[in-house]
Amino acid sequence: MHRRTLALVAANACLGAAVVVGVTTPADAAPQAAAVTQLTYDDSQAPQYAANTAAAVEVWNTDAPNVHIVKAARGQRANIRIVADPGWPHATLGPVRSNGSVQIWFGKQAVDEGFDKTRIIAHEMGHSLGLPDNRTGKCSDLMSGHSAPTSCTNAHPSPAERATVQRNYARFAASSDAQLTVVINDAA
Ligand SMILES: [Zn+2]
Repeated sequence: MHRRTLALVAANACLGAAVVVGVTTPADAAPQAAAVTQLTYDDSQAPQYAANTAAAVEVWNTDAPNVHIVKAARGQRANIRIVADPGWPHATLGPVRSNGSVQIWFGKQAVDEGFDKTRIIAHEMGHSLGLPDNRTGKCSDLMSGHSAPTSCTNAHPSPAERATVQRNYARFAASSDAQLTVVINDAA
């Protein structure tokens, strides 16, 4: 069979090491329908937020079905690592792919100031999936973060935010993870 090889280059942000992965696809295959990108998360270092994290994962799996996030098996390297942190929440800016990894620091300071925990983690996952901050002050915008009042409990992305994540994961997962070095700090 006639085949072509697509080389993916992924840089590991932590080690600075470059990894080359060869993916062979049949050249005569029908045009690829949007493949669902499978991602794993590990919240073993933020167990006090496990219920909020599970709720936020459900939000994203429902609202942006081009990406599907599941809990990593014990000992498995996760694409999204969530760790509890005493400061303000912050996160690596994605979009992370199945061969990459990003981190979320679930900052207690925002919890102490009264922000909704599920909204916090859904917002930080938005960063993992490639959304920047957008401080509109609107509760309906997930990426407005702490510019919305603490009374805001909306953990769902707006239609525009959903569309962006859907686009980020719309194509056969052939993008590079080389850009996963930017950390978004959600401090005021
Ligand atoms: Zn943010």
